[in-house]
Amino acid sequence: MTIRRMNIAIDGPAGAGKSTVAKMVADKLTYIYIDTGAMYRALTFEVLKENVDIHHEQDIFNVLQKTNIRLANDNGKQKILINEQDVTEDIRSSAVTSQVSYVAKHSKIREEMVKRQQLLADDGGVVMDGRDIGTTVLPKAELKIFLTATVEERARRRHEEHLSKGQPSDLEKLKDDISMRDKLDSEREIAPLKKANDAIEINSTSMSINEVVEAILLMVKERREKVK
Ligand code: C5P
Repeated sequence: MTIRRMNIAIDGPAGAGKSTVAKMVADKLTYIYIDTGAMYRALTFEVLKENVDIHHEQDIFNVLQKTNIRLANDNGKQKILINEQDVTEDIRSSAVTSQVSYVAKHSKIREEMVKRQQLLADDGGVVMDGRDIGTTVLPKAELKIFLTATVEERARRRHEEHLSKGQPSDLEKLKDDISMRDKLDSEREIAPLKKANDAIEINSTSMSINEVVEAILLMVKERREKVK
């Protein structure tokens, strides 16, 4: 008998390191990594491209219905494709980042995204990161992590990341943008950013990425031993 591989949910505020951690955990376990934020970003990119009003739910939904969003693995690198066109870089633009939380708050949009995400996790063996994975998308996930860090630390990490890529960066603006996105994501009506009751909180403010990954892998090991 083969044991079903577990699903792991990683939620938390913007810039807490969720995607880096989730990807490393998935690689270690040879699980599939699913970046749900990238799905909302891809839709936002398409909505902006088509000049659709970000407050108009039905119009956004119409865009979503004709938008196939595929998360592909290209030699260990995650790629985001919209109708097979590579938008991996485009969805990280500041235009998309500043609008995505408005697009993501509509109930019809979330309903459809949750359906697509649940389908991807149907067979288990998935590490999924986002805001509502533990509470809404995968309420039965075998392991739920809520990854946090102070706003100052999250902004500092983004700042370093931009500088290391030779991109312009303004630390104070990053702090404001991150705080604004946290506020919109935590105060929205549907599936707000929230720690699930059975999630384990990891505050990564003074932890390295490797320490966070190791802590999660240890929890995976403990859970596997329990079901043996
Ligand atoms: O994870 P990332 O910061 O790329 O997510 C971008 C935005 O997508 C979030 O700020 C949030 O508004 C939305 N999002 C969401 N639910 C998720 C993942 C992301 O509403 N599960």
